[in-house]
Amino acid sequence: MMNLTERFLKYVSFDTQSDELTRLTPSTPGQMVFAKYLKEELESLGLQEVELDENGYLFATLPANTDKEVPTIGFISHMDTSPDMSGKNVSPRIVQNYDGSDIVLCAEENIVLSPAQFPELLNHKGEDLIVTDGKTLLGADDKAGIAEIVSAMVYLMEHPEIKHGKIRVGFNPDEEIGEGAHKFDVEKFGCEWGYTMDGGELGELEFENFNAAGAKVIFKGRNVHPGYAKNKMINSMRIASQFINMLPRHETPEHTEKYEGFYHLNGMQGDVEQTTLNYIIRDHDRDKFENRKKEIQHLVNKINAEFGEGTATLEMRDQYYNMREKIEPVMHIIDVAFAAMEAVGVKPNVKPIRGGTDGAQLSFKGLPCPNIFAGGINFHGRYEFVPIQNMEKAMKVIVKIAEMVASDK
Ligand SMILES: [Zn+2]
Repeated sequence: MMNLTERFLKYVSFDTQSDELTRLTPSTPGQMVFAKYLKEELESLGLQEVELDENGYLFATLPANTDKEVPTIGFISHMDTSPDMSGKNVSPRIVQNYDGSDIVLCAEENIVLSPAQFPELLNHKGEDLIVTDGKTLLGADDKAGIAEIVSAMVYLMEHPEIKHGKIRVGFNPDEEIGEGAHKFDVEKFGCEWGYTMDGGELGELEFENFNAAGAKVIFKGRNVHPGYAKNKMINSMRIASQFINMLPRHETPEHTEKYEGFYHLNGMQGDVEQTTLNYIIRDHDRDKFENRKKEIQHLVNKINAEFGEGTATLEMRDQYYNMREKIEPVMHIIDVAFAAMEAVGVKPNVKPIRGGTDGAQLSFKGLPCPNIFAGGINFHGRYEFVPIQNMEKAMKVIVKIAEMVASDK
């Protein structure tokens, strides 16, 4: 039987890059190929209720080995890799007992993973790092999570002296294109709560993320021959640029961190007749988030007051919400993750996510679902790597959570 590292190396051999343009679920056929492989693996390992649906969602059960009343919990990872970089023909290499020096990923193209650019490497001296050949991403996001979950289930089966309740395992497609939770059947999953194993560095534990909305503002102008335009032309691009400058200059991604929210202009397109601005609005605090949306509406009204009704129109929609409000009533699920990390010698590092997660969407679908580290670093690119020791710790955290949920503490 394969061990944790072998399992991981096998998983990254599947090309599961997702694609936001296909509008299919899963978005790419490679994900289904991988899902079928995993289904067979879970069956052969002896897991039960192994079910793969037509959208590529794979669920399985490790039955309880105690008669005690224990809540059913789940562990979740995603099968796809980022559209940002190829995940085809991943050719990983293990750097044993890393000595803190530069790691040449690809000699002919001079691609080097160096502590000069990535000082976090130095936290992993003496460990065994899995790196790429510099031509693809690695796929530790999130195949490290899958390997850890599967290996933890195997560990629990091999150690019946560790008592646990019913454990559910869920592997989903298309997290990287923001759709991992969309067709996730929370009712069928049937858990009181879950954890996504999808964080990065050792110790990460996350249960706060942004509230998120998207806004599209369209400005209408009037085009006239520029030589005869006096008092006739209305240049929509100039009105749009006035709007841009009405928003607070320092509330942008490049000027904010931690709990600071922002308005981010992430696209503009225009000519004299019509200009479109695309914004994303982000804030951890729900009231501040609502106020940001009101501010956008207010500025649109101001433009219309100045240039005439209908000059600017606004389409705004909420995208996702901060899971904190769903986690706060069940803080014991954070406490147990925290305690499990400490019990296996990992220092928990709780921090707010400046983005969203599948877990946030699942939390609003009724499955409270914080996020735990999977151990990889430098996601979504050729410099991605994962220390084997990080993966082993993550696997131990899973086992420990299962054990602690079933114990009276
Ligand atoms: Zn991920």
